[in-house]
Amino acid sequence: MKVLVINCGSSSLKYQLFDMENEQVMAKGLVERIGISGSVLTHRPGEQKHVIKTEIPDHKKAISLVLDAIVDPKHGVLQLMEEISAVGHRVVHGGEDYAKSVLLTDEVMEALKRNIELAPLHNPPNIMGIEACQQLMPSVPQVCVFDTAYHQTMPEHAFLYGIPYEKYEQYKIRKFGFHGTSHKYVAQRAAAFLGKPISDLKIITCHLGNGSSISAIEGGKSIDTSMGFTPLEGLMMGTRSGDLDPTVVTFLMEKEGWSTAETNNFLNKKCGVLGLSGVSSDFRDLESAADEGNKRAQLALDRFAYGVKKYIGAYAAVLNGVDVVVFTAGLGENSASMRAKICEGLNYLGIEIDAKRNNIRGEEALISSDASKTKVLVIPTNEELMIARDTYEIVNKKK
Ligand code: AMP
Repeated sequence: MKVLVINCGSSSLKYQLFDMENEQVMAKGLVERIGISGSVLTHRPGEQKHVIKTEIPDHKKAISLVLDAIVDPKHGVLQLMEEISAVGHRVVHGGEDYAKSVLLTDEVMEALKRNIELAPLHNPPNIMGIEACQQLMPSVPQVCVFDTAYHQTMPEHAFLYGIPYEKYEQYKIRKFGFHGTSHKYVAQRAAAFLGKPISDLKIITCHLGNGSSISAIEGGKSIDTSMGFTPLEGLMMGTRSGDLDPTVVTFLMEKEGWSTAETNNFLNKKCGVLGLSGVSSDFRDLESAADEGNKRAQLALDRFAYGVKKYIGAYAAVLNGVDVVVFTAGLGENSASMRAKICEGLNYLGIEIDAKRNNIRGEEALISSDASKTKVLVIPTNEELMIARDTYEIVNKKK
């Protein structure tokens, strides 16, 4: 069975085609600048890449080009589009409606639209991608896999904020958490790597990339996570502020005369390590700048590592101990120096990094020493595979 996985942003679209017999990626690619001049599709049926530059005014055109590329006689990997048995969509916000992935129905589409209010930047492009697939492949089942779903197991005392309960009831103001597909995937892989049942493990998963979040996972279930009502809460990120005293927001609005849109833009796009360093939102740039003596780049790296360490400490308390810490995503998978900095001085939690083992990039590995009571792992995330697996399972159940 072939499953197409689609991840739609407002002006971009990523895709991967899986053969579920062996869970191998047959082709993958990226459409960029949808609705903007200079649109381009980069299709990778294996090692080579095939670039198509053409006008792509909307998501429907983007998906139609992707389908053409998949069945192209020269660069394609399938003979017929009908070989695609299901499409799995990454959907950012499932609100309180979905604790699991679901088959798309009219009712699900209504819920997605209802949840636009909670994810105004993310859910609309996700919906556009789904609608485009419905139009282009009307008989193919579509599955929605939500970033928020995995965290729906958080208890009330973890997801509620210290605001009147009525505001939660009225507006659903609560912690939802994001990156759920990634946290779930790496937690499962960590258990498999250690050869232990996940039900026996207390795991702290650190998804550190351009967006970053940390989760406390007990017995395979998320019991707390650092992102909140939106992906702005928690760790300082590439361009997002992370945790702040809320008064900073109202103070700045008053001083600068900003509208809510301007303030949201500031907090999401101008803060984080970019704002603190004044150098870049990209951790590779920051590490190079710091190596060359840039003090603010070093400060941003130090502040980031300090934030991660605080959450690890908090979640070790929440879990009453920790068996495994997992690092994943662009920074977590690739930066040995960031991992070392975060774990420095966590000996009281039984964490000790082995410098030689830590000297790896982008592969599954144990990086803690033999003496380390808590295991520390690097596990490359694979959200697309997780989406493909859920899609496969749901579609097969339906049959
Ligand atoms: P992601 O959002 O998961 O794609 O992660 C992107 C972030 O990972 C960017 O800030 C990159 O700079 C960072 N990153 C990727 N590779 C490395 C590396 N080798 N060293 C440090 N940071 C890296």
